[in-house]
Amino acid sequence: MNPKWNGQFSCFDLVAQTGDCAPIVVRAGNVKIGGGDFVVMAGPCAVESESQLLRTAESVAASGARMLRGGAFKPRSSPYAFQGLGLEGLKLLRKAREETGLAIVTEAMSEEDVDLVAEYADLMQVGTRSMENYALLEKLGGCGRPVLLKRGMTATLEEFLRSAQFLAMAMPKKTNGNPQIVLCERGIRTFETATRNTLDIAAVPVLKTVSRLPVIVDPSHAAGVRSLVPILARAAAVVGADGMIVEVHPSPDQAMSDGAQSLTFRQFHDMMDDLDPYLAIRDAARQSAPQLSMVGGTD
Ligand code: PEP
Ligand code: MN
Repeated sequence: MNPKWNGQFSCFDLVAQTGDCAPIVVRAGNVKIGGGDFVVMAGPCAVESESQLLRTAESVAASGARMLRGGAFKPRSSPYAFQGLGLEGLKLLRKAREETGLAIVTEAMSEEDVDLVAEYADLMQVGTRSMENYALLEKLGGCGRPVLLKRGMTATLEEFLRSAQFLAMAMPKKTNGNPQIVLCERGIRTFETATRNTLDIAAVPVLKTVSRLPVIVDPSHAAGVRSLVPILARAAAVVGADGMIVEVHPSPDQAMSDGAQSLTFRQFHDMMDDLDPYLAIRDAARQSAPQLSMVGGTD
């Protein structure tokens, strides 16, 4: 165990693990994240149409997903790319929840969108590009919904937890010292170009040691290609992630965003089917939950 860890992170007192505090369970609609189950959130990168979303929702629910993902407001690196359906997309997400019972996770990109998105979402997503948008974090902290905080693509874990602490400080006292935040490792930018991002798999056990928050993995944005997604998903299960968020599309090659990394229904089904032995490995491993070797810090 790296003795620096506790000293480095304990200043983020609302989200850090500074002793033997129980891990935080986040409630998103009818789903508990961090309570022991491996929670899978799946769906298209962007909501494109009613039939695309509803077909996907039904299929991923039948394969074992508990939550539906889908962007209505899309952060795109090109101003010419599809920016999302906005309010119409949110309404389709609500309809999909009514029809399938899946809880909804979707992104709010700006402070102005937060109240609107909060009317429709069970879990508010902060995208990698927004991790350091402190005005957005402040607004999200007060919106009354739990938050999925994605790691900035060039953020250290310390910076990641700093943003989580920022959110936690803005959350109302009624969370009883249990800020409703889920951390998401989605791959970071490194010198490697063979994959879209580099999945920092060690971030999962480190974050689960130094923080009380649940941690999930996004193998889709880490890989950038669909063939790698099930393999990274297995890694996420083995290292003790509390779940994952995965992109799935009825016809990935026609997707308006992130088609190359989106799974077909069949591939998603098979990936879910193959996951159990990996979850069993995690549960059987000795000392599968890393412990802090040192309490208190020098900061
Ligand atoms: C997404 O989930 O589709 C997305 C844009 O993710 P990220 O912010 O991690 O790139
Ligand atoms: Mn995407």
